[in-house]
Amino acid sequence: MIGIVLIAGVSRRLYPITKEIPKCLLEIGDMTILDHQFNALRTCGITEVVVVMGYRREQIIDAIKTGHSDMKVHYLINHQFFSTNTAYSLLLAADYFNRQGRKDIHVGFATPGTVIFGTQPFRDELKRYLHKYDISQRYGYKLVKIDGEKKEAHYVRLPLPDGRTDYIQNDERNAAGCIGYVWEEGQQYVVKEENNHIDELRKGTHFVFKYDMLHLAPPQSAPDWFQKTKLANQEGVDKGWMGVDAHTLQSRYYQNVFGVGDVTDAPTARTGAAIRKQAPTIVENLLKIMDGNAADYEGYDGYSSCPLVVAHNRMLLAEFKYDGVRSSDPLLSKFLDTGKASYAMWIMKRYGLPFLYWNAMLKGYKF
Ligand SMILES: Cc1cc2nc3c(=O)[nH]c(=O)nc-3n(C[C@H](O)[C@H](O)[C@H](O)COP(=O)(O)OP(=O)(O)OC[C@H]3O[C@@H](n4cnc5c(N)ncnc54)[C@H](O)[C@@H]3O)c2cc1C
Repeated sequence: MIGIVLIAGVSRRLYPITKEIPKCLLEIGDMTILDHQFNALRTCGITEVVVVMGYRREQIIDAIKTGHSDMKVHYLINHQFFSTNTAYSLLLAADYFNRQGRKDIHVGFATPGTVIFGTQPFRDELKRYLHKYDISQRYGYKLVKIDGEKKEAHYVRLPLPDGRTDYIQNDERNAAGCIGYVWEEGQQYVVKEENNHIDELRKGTHFVFKYDMLHLAPPQSAPDWFQKTKLANQEGVDKGWMGVDAHTLQSRYYQNVFGVGDVTDAPTARTGAAIRKQAPTIVENLLKIMDGNAADYEGYDGYSSCPLVVAHNRMLLAEFKYDGVRSSDPLLSKFLDTGKASYAMWIMKRYGLPFLYWNAMLKGYKF
């Protein structure tokens, strides 16, 4: 077995303590956090480790070479440690294992939905990467329990319509987790368990996987306090979210209130990119109301976008509007095929999107 140690982060929450030293080299008791991690790995009989580093990595390499020379260590660098999280570091590790030809490490993807992404061509491109990384795929798998001590994830298979066994019920969610809607309503997809390397045990109704590391997207909801307000839907599938008109973004309950962002029930993916297109719509409608007119500007078409990083230097940009219709930025599409993962797209996310965020979006420019 091989261990993965993710220690790329900056630990800004511990500033100023971590200004000069990475968090993993802070001492707890009589040894550093890194020493504790390596000792725990040794106790489990692990002698080979992949270390994903970023912030102040020279100090980390020194500490490992000095204190842990008995371990076989592969050093990996996450250059984007300021702007990414542990999931990105983990994908880097998957990418690395893949490039090393390691076949003893298995990555699985399980979802209660029926597709990995609701819109083409992004779905096919993501599937291409699943195949490339040899990631097993399970659709219609709903997580019901995690046994942390045994490191087991328990799933149930969702019931199939008409007693069929080869189809998955459309449960109004898709696999991207952050999105919340299957757009091709009413359609069902044949379940294919591809690249099925991960053993699952059957325990009653549960399908159980052993895992070393689990990465989950939690269920979404509006904040608890908001759900108790009169702006929130009191019933229906969107209960708890702020009820708005999908195109004018006017509250369904109060004419002088408008909603943007994650809290609304606009049936699209909740992203910052969506807010970029929602804000000008409510500005227009607020001005109309202030002039004594009806707020009838139906400017928002459901635009949203997800930058999907699929390797340490590759990204595709899934842009779409209501009903899962692809809606790529016309200017960007002149230069790049946003549906294909590429280095150019990754550069655009790394440098272009933060620039647009700070200099255009936050300053209220319409673009
Ligand atoms: C891991 C992750 C990655 C993402 N990546 C992308 C991406 O690449 N591109 C993209 O476009 N979008 C991305 N998103 C989505 C994007 O971050 C959200 O859609 C966006 O931040 C929503 O903005 P918001 O203002 O509606 O809500 P929020 O950003 O959640 O802001 C709500 C604010 O209200 C505050 N608040 C809550 N309750 C109270 C209270 N009682 N009093 C005062 N304040 C309160 C909260 O603290 C919070 O600051 C990502 C989201 C996550 C979680």
